Amino acid sequence: MSDNPFFSPSTLVYELPPFAEIREEHYRPAFEQGMAEQLAEVAAIAADPEPPTFDNTVVALERSGAVLRRVSAAFFNQDSSDTTPGIQRLDAEISPLLAAHHDAVHLDPALFARLDALHARRHELGLDAESLRLLERRHTAFVRAGARLDADGQRRLREINTQLAADGAAFRKNTHEASLAGAVAVDSAAALDGLPAAAVANAAENARALGQGGQWVLSLKNFSNQSELAHLTDRALRERLLTASLRRGLDTNGPLAARMAALRAERAALLGHPTHAAYVVADETAGTVEAVGAMLGRLVGPAVANAQREAADLAAAAAADGVTELAAHDWAFYAEKVRAERYDVDTAALRPYFELERVLRDGVFYAANLAYGLRFEERPELTAYHPDARVFEVFDADGSALGLFIGDFFARESKCGGAWMNELVPQSRLLGTRPVVVNNLNIAHPAAGEPALLSWDEVRTLFHEFGHALHGLFSDVRYPSFAGTEVPRDFVEFPSQVNEMWMVRPEVLAHYARHHVTGEPLDTGVVERMLAAENYGQGFRTVEYLAAALLDWAWHTLPAGAEPVGDAEEFEARVLAEAGVAVAAVPPRYRTGYFNHVFSNGYSAGYYAYIWSEVLDAETVEWFGSNGRPVRESGELFRAELLSRGGSRDALECVRAVLGREPSIEPLLVRRGLE
Ligand SMILES: [Zn+2]
Repeated sequence: MSDNPFFSPSTLVYELPPFAEIREEHYRPAFEQGMAEQLAEVAAIAADPEPPTFDNTVVALERSGAVLRRVSAAFFNQDSSDTTPGIQRLDAEISPLLAAHHDAVHLDPALFARLDALHARRHELGLDAESLRLLERRHTAFVRAGARLDADGQRRLREINTQLAADGAAFRKNTHEASLAGAVAVDSAAALDGLPAAAVANAAENARALGQGGQWVLSLKNFSNQSELAHLTDRALRERLLTASLRRGLDTNGPLAARMAALRAERAALLGHPTHAAYVVADETAGTVEAVGAMLGRLVGPAVANAQREAADLAAAAAADGVTELAAHDWAFYAEKVRAERYDVDTAALRPYFELERVLRDGVFYAANLAYGLRFEERPELTAYHPDARVFEVFDADGSALGLFIGDFFARESKCGGAWMNELVPQSRLLGTRPVVVNNLNIAHPAAGEPALLSWDEVRTLFHEFGHALHGLFSDVRYPSFAGTEVPRDFVEFPSQVNEMWMVRPEVLAHYARHHVTGEPLDTGVVERMLAAENYGQGFRTVEYLAAALLDWAWHTLPAGAEPVGDAEEFEARVLAEAGVAVAAVPPRYRTGYFNHVFSNGYSAGYYAYIWSEVLDAETVEWFGSNGRPVRESGELFRAELLSRGGSRDALECVRAVLGREPSIEPLLVRRGLE
């Protein structure tokens, strides 16, 4: 197997994985070899006859696992972006093995003894700030992983971790299958009355791809409220579509979620925390369950009041159509109508001004040039993992090469829903690597020869994900454990949310929002009305989000040994009611059956992080607009003090270094209409 491309470093520029050579059968042997190699490296560190030093222990650990790092990055990228049944099977098989491998490293008593001894003397070792932090973070990671437990405790911990890894992979697979199975087919285009033409064409294309020619298929996006609900005039079809969305995965993932929540609670208790949420937030910027609870609790009342005000308006509009009771499947449809009447904005009419290529180059890249001086060159000769994934080389203001950015913008059946950033190569001065980052979106593929025209929300998503990409690209750290987005979970959304501000900055908007045929700029009045209309919808958006965050919170504040949750649906209804966030016509953004964030993607007890990060985001956007510095200077400061630091410095210290003071919640309350 010496021809396995993962066994040696890539020889391509930036160590871009050699995708042209990678075949599915390479993954398993590379995982096996990668784990075996790292275990041998760890054993050698642990058995070193020399007394422990920072170099022979902490740095040696940091260097270990090169093959595993390479194969994991490529594999999990493919699993999310271009999966196959074989990849999914391997994911299900390999996830428990990886969890066991993680335990084998972190529960090695000889290794921990060396780390513990170093940690005790950490202030006498003459370490620089980043190295000291690495020692502290590694030590904390080992303790949190159970290094101090007795043998029985460690045995049970290993069992739980293996089971949870298997369950998480199963959850992911169930969601994917349930989403495909939940797609809604209709027999005539007439049934899709109200949908924009491009969406109708897309539904016909979906049907063809599924071998259901002659039908139209509405495939399910990963969140509750499907975008078609805003346009379909057929109320019964709207109900069918939303019901399919809300009920997917309940039968398979409902019981699985209950079991996972119980196992997580048991693990937390083993590690000395009252609940899984307490265990998670102890290592986040939030710190305590009380801090998160207080923050979410403070927002619920005003958000629900806003949503109810919106509901009354919508109900009045619906009554004109003879709808006596506004249902969840009516909300988006009448919101669209009220928005059009009150603010004179037709969201479908905006699309011709948001052509993907233009938004990307003249918007997203242009903003990165304004703020940071970056320049981008497409490198078509570099092969990514799918023909739709395009590779760009990124250059710094002084002309030096910074890294690679891969943009994979279109939806396909083999891709997970949603949008995200992946890192294929982390930046590290220790390893001599520069960053290679990927952005994934799910924009509907345009028909052949047609331009891809984006919705307002898709434009925002493009800017958002690019904010994560910048966090990876600007990383300037020594240790790979601190690269780019290796920051607390309740902090990682902050830089990406900040990057959204460029979407509507007048100088950026004027540069990219032009009609794709006529080149005519988007009327700034339309943008102002659109922003006003967005403010109007804040009640719905905030409640939908809070309901999902509180649902995650409820699952993960169950104490160990509590009566297991029998019925996920009943549990949801009860906890949302108790939290005061049960608004009948506003379902949570995710329900348990398809809440991948918290049951398979590492956001358990962490969905609160989006609004937690938004506090810092709202502050920083304010700061960018009001600090009196030129944009470029603000950008450089933000980059130097925050984006480039990754996890190498305390997150809130980075924020204080930018703002020059403590952040406050006020700008968020204003933005969300919650004062
Ligand atoms: Zn994000």
